[in-house]
Amino acid sequence: MAKDEWTEDPRRLLMAGPDFDLSSFDRSATPGWSRGKRAAKKAMRSRGKLLSELQERLYAQGRSGGNKRVLVVVQGIDTAGKGGIARHVMAMVDPQGVSLASFGPPTPEEARHHYLWRIRRALPKPGRIGLFDRSHYEDVLVVRVEDLVEEEVWRKRYAEINHFEKGLVDQDTVVIKLALMVSHEEQGMRLMERLDRPDKRWKFSSSDIPTRLKWDAYQEAYADVFRLTSTAHAPWYVLPADNKWYSRLAATEIITRELVEMRVQWPKPRWRPDVQRRRLAETMSPESLARSVAETEEVVLEAIEDSSEVGREAFTLLTEGLDAERRSAVHDALRVKRESFMADLERTIANKRELLAAVDPTLLPPEEHDAPSPDAGNQRAEEQPTEDRPRPDKERKARKPAKDKKAGKGKGKRARKGKKSKN
Ligand code: AMP
Ligand code: MG
Repeated sequence: MAKDEWTEDPRRLLMAGPDFDLSSFDRSATPGWSRGKRAAKKAMRSRGKLLSELQERLYAQGRSGGNKRVLVVVQGIDTAGKGGIARHVMAMVDPQGVSLASFGPPTPEEARHHYLWRIRRALPKPGRIGLFDRSHYEDVLVVRVEDLVEEEVWRKRYAEINHFEKGLVDQDTVVIKLALMVSHEEQGMRLMERLDRPDKRWKFSSSDIPTRLKWDAYQEAYADVFRLTSTAHAPWYVLPADNKWYSRLAATEIITRELVEMRVQWPKPRWRPDVQRRRLAETMSPESLARSVAETEEVVLEAIEDSSEVGREAFTLLTEGLDAERRSAVHDALRVKRESFMADLERTIANKRELLAAVDPTLLPPEEHDAPSPDAGNQRAEEQPTEDRPRPDKERKARKPAKDKKAGKGKGKRARKGKKSKN
């Protein structure tokens, strides 16, 4: 996995603070990234893997009753690249975990309600990452510039939006607001390309040029959005967008880092794997049970390796800027987690060998030199509880110290499939 190539956390560089000045903002800059477009694409792919596992965890906690979710608000004028964020960033995660919503002029029904009505209806459910292509901010942008309501009305909305977003954050939603800022010149080029290319003309709208003519008014409205709604609970990240590869990379990095900091863990099942495994084994032929026993180590080790790799990358992000002591605390936690996975694997193998031995011991594959002896295994088989009762906490710990097995064998397609087809 590529090492971290950002010179600094882009959130620090791109967050709109109290002294943010849009008029001097360089839209072709690439803050925190000096390595160009090719390296950016590579880094994005590498982050994609981390992002994808984090999203899967988020989804899993949502499925087991957790309430956490993420809302990514993407704003920007025409051609700024909002669609590209959905297409390139969200494409890296499982579409089942993403909910997209785009907001155009309100429908007659929407217009009869408060402007936040349609926004509330489109919020992500627990476990999801919601992506808004335009949002409630249009109600202080286009609505303000086009005089669609009285100033007195839109003026009150900044505070109302802050309050609304605070409510979301208080209910376990991480709100990530990304503004893609393109230069006037670059927008002209992109609109021209839409006119020139037959395959892009559908993106052009006859209102695009009238809107472009109101450039200054839009910039002023955006400046007020950043000045008035970049809060501690839901800050704005303002992304220079003349280089699409940069804004996509920065968006990926910001979303990934926010997800890492949510520290979502895989949910604990409410059932016991050994009990369920025994029931399943009873439905399998001895031959297929034997095949399953033989491939256990390969399948599980590969999953543990993948997970550790992701863990190491997350570790780098989480410990950036921490002192040595706190770094080592995070590192220890990571090691303990890996050891517990390895211990779980030991138990799994022993348990499956017992199950197979009970139906046909002649099918037992040869033991790993350091695996538990068959006697110990059989003895343990007799100790196995027969009821699916809750397991006391201490039992979750390893029965014996985990051995760090070499992971070299685990490259089978099967292993990958085994990991990814969980849901
Ligand atoms: P597009 O993103 O190109 O599909 O265009 C959507 C259009 O809907 C843009 O011109 C927005 O300004 C407009 N729009 C979005 N929200 C509102 C709103 N609340 N009121 C009026 N127009 C809106
Ligand atoms: Mg448009």
